[in-house]
Amino acid sequence: MATTKYIFVTGGVTSSLGKGIISASLAKLLQARGYKVTIQKLDPYINVDPGTLNPYEHGECYVTEDGAETDLDLGHYERFLNVFTSQANNVTTGRIYQDVINKERRGDFLGKTVQIIPHITDEIKRRIKLLGSKNKFDFVITEIGGTVGDIESLPYIESVRQLKWELKNRCMVIHLTLVPYLAASGELKTKPTQHSVKTLQEAGVQPDVLVLRTEHRLNAEIRSKVANFCNVQKEAVVESHDVKTIYEVPIEMQREKLDELVISHFGMVAGPKPDLKPWKEFLKQLNAPKHQVKIGLVGKYVELKDAYKSINESFIHAGAANETKVEIEYIHSEHLAESNYEEALKTLDGIIVTPGFGHRGIAGKILAVKYARENNIPFLGICLGMQCAVIEFAQNVLKLEDANSLEMDRKCKNPVINLMEEQKMITEKGGTMRLGSYPCRVLRDSNAHKAYKTLKINERHRHRYEFNNSYQEMYSKAGMIASGINPETELVEIVEIPKHKWFVGVQFHPEYKSTVINPHPIFVSFIKATVEK
Ligand code: GLN
Repeated sequence: MATTKYIFVTGGVTSSLGKGIISASLAKLLQARGYKVTIQKLDPYINVDPGTLNPYEHGECYVTEDGAETDLDLGHYERFLNVFTSQANNVTTGRIYQDVINKERRGDFLGKTVQIIPHITDEIKRRIKLLGSKNKFDFVITEIGGTVGDIESLPYIESVRQLKWELKNRCMVIHLTLVPYLAASGELKTKPTQHSVKTLQEAGVQPDVLVLRTEHRLNAEIRSKVANFCNVQKEAVVESHDVKTIYEVPIEMQREKLDELVISHFGMVAGPKPDLKPWKEFLKQLNAPKHQVKIGLVGKYVELKDAYKSINESFIHAGAANETKVEIEYIHSEHLAESNYEEALKTLDGIIVTPGFGHRGIAGKILAVKYARENNIPFLGICLGMQCAVIEFAQNVLKLEDANSLEMDRKCKNPVINLMEEQKMITEKGGTMRLGSYPCRVLRDSNAHKAYKTLKINERHRHRYEFNNSYQEMYSKAGMIASGINPETELVEIVEIPKHKWFVGVQFHPEYKSTVINPHPIFVSFIKATVEK
């Protein structure tokens, strides 16, 4: 008998209220009670996945073990739950339509007119229920992207309405809204919440729980008012007060009994309240640092912090593990030039050069590498950042002045970064990079080995270019070694400079695998090196 319970999280009033964090926090609380939980994000845009989106549009593209290019909320799910997500955890309108249209072309609909209801909604429901099939999970939490009332979200809300009937008591809806504070009158206002619940009700969906995001505490009167106007029990009005860090939200939600509300909604027995010990331990370390370091994050999307979401969070995890407050100084790579780079970088304890694509800002990234290398500043280069470290070494140490990546200079005579063999025939853009988890063999006694404490690792990738192995000998003779190699393809996955304090470039993305409970060893070692400096 199917027993999986489905929880839908919708949002109203404005975007960016933190549905992802509420979903992840609820999942964390249910997980701490011993339940198996997964979270899914449904995104209402037409792109098949966010892999083709410019980071300025939606922030970082998060990559899963199985190589799916997904919404950054999946990163939160993994960081909170410490379990992997997959392609099935992120579905976009584009993917739904692509599937339905492919079926239509195959003749699967037997001559019927293909419509939003039932064909699109059926496909949405299939994708939701797929995660719960075989009772793999006790709870599937599905976060619906966008804001209630958006045209794009309608098929999703309609699918929720249908599922409420189909799944009967195995289904519930949590609606997150904003209660704005009007400073002029000194009042919290509930009208936007009332309107957004009304919009949801017009679509046939009655929320079971309301989570109200607020800058000021809600009093009993406000809670009663919202309950009364929005047709929910007073206990089902949950306050989500602004907190210093997203990692406090599970604690807040436990205090507000969000998990207990869910459990009692499904007629289950709550049992004792979990103590969240490892989580609280992490918060304790986060909130009482003994050291402080300043890391320069050099990238070209620094105007939008979300473009580096997983990197930012990895520093929080690694900082806590080192009892260190990590201050990140965001440095626009296009603003670094020969004339100012030393001045701009001189106060940093460590430098990270970020992933990226294309030529813009490359010169500044290479200058940042040069500064870190020449001044013995701990350095971490990720993906394009690692490639920049390789290019810089070629230009300034190997004296191959025209050395470059083929990505930046098609006609380059010394392509120390080459297009991967398997990429040469590819012309399509979406989902065609080297994506997802690959094994890597680590060199004994290297920085990477000291960090991982093992010689066999698996890390996630997202790239088309690679270190050009025909230069490997030249590099190692001059002091930059390959300390991580893919055992099957011999692709260089890690480079380092053993003579340097801590200089590591990784072709993969360690930031995707750092979680609260398992801070990533590369970030932990990097921060440790900056503290020691
Ligand atoms: N643009 C580089 C490549 O495709 C690096 C990609 C990245 O930083 N994710 O190889």
